[in-house]
Amino acid sequence: MKIIKSLDKLFHYLKKFKLKGKSIGFVPTMGALHEGHLSLIRQARKDTDLVVVSIFVNPTQFGPKEDLNKYPRPLSKDLALCRKEKANFVFCPKPQDMYSRDFSTFVNVGGLSEVLCGKSRPGHFRGVATVVTKLFNIVQPDIVYFGQKDAQQAIIIQRMVRDLNIPVKVRVMPTIREKGGLALSSRNAYLGKDERKDALVLSQALNLAKLLIKNGSRDSGRIISRMRHLIKKKKSVKIDYIEVVDSENLKPLKKISGNCLIALAVWIGKTKLIDNVVGDDL
Ligand code: AMP
Repeated sequence: MKIIKSLDKLFHYLKKFKLKGKSIGFVPTMGALHEGHLSLIRQARKDTDLVVVSIFVNPTQFGPKEDLNKYPRPLSKDLALCRKEKANFVFCPKPQDMYSRDFSTFVNVGGLSEVLCGKSRPGHFRGVATVVTKLFNIVQPDIVYFGQKDAQQAIIIQRMVRDLNIPVKVRVMPTIREKGGLALSSRNAYLGKDERKDALVLSQALNLAKLLIKNGSRDSGRIISRMRHLIKKKKSVKIDYIEVVDSENLKPLKKISGNCLIALAVWIGKTKLIDNVVGDDL
């Protein structure tokens, strides 16, 4: 496994493989790797000849009051995990090499970026779309891997790839959860012991929605209000949003249908967590 910091070096290494006709699978991450990330690497390993993982805490997707500085960066542990999963290249560029002082070009996926998590994080998805575009241009992968856990991100990337004719296939892989149901997230590391218990309420609320739908409920408003009621029982949890939306255009849906996305975001103390289920899970 090669660990590469320089953009040019990675570009040149990969070019050699491409000339030999090898396929490239790419897993972009911000590090603090867990089983969710590893599931993406494993899928890339199965699908493609060469696996590139990027570890880059992207400054342009953090707001001024967000956790850029305290975001966990356990690089040597991450590298050991990548090695174990047989990644071929780990790309960990320096922020100053990704963004020159006079950097001024951004990618904005209109309409999809301002709703759900975008409402309280203006500019977040612009930062995500921009860094992902840059990484796609540097790595030029055949297949890229994203997690369903960040559903809005995956939908935005798919739209961007379609709209800008980026020659890459996007695979969205299922959310990996702890035994109790909590979706794995690098930000779970911020949770105290009691907060971790309270965090179970996200998957519990989604399971309640699934049960209601299984029992015939179709009214989004009623399902949301039952979820809200369940979550409000936890004093340490503050709801940012619970929404039922169309899984392609993220517009609110009054009635549950096969292509719906039920997404929620809550604050547990100072930590914001998100989770979701999609039509296929219902
Ligand atoms: P991050 O490091 O948080 O930017 O995440 C990198 C990639 O891992 C994104 O495509 C995420 O959606 C994905 N990911 C994060 N958590 C999970 C999870 N629990 N299950 C599956 N994929 C995940």
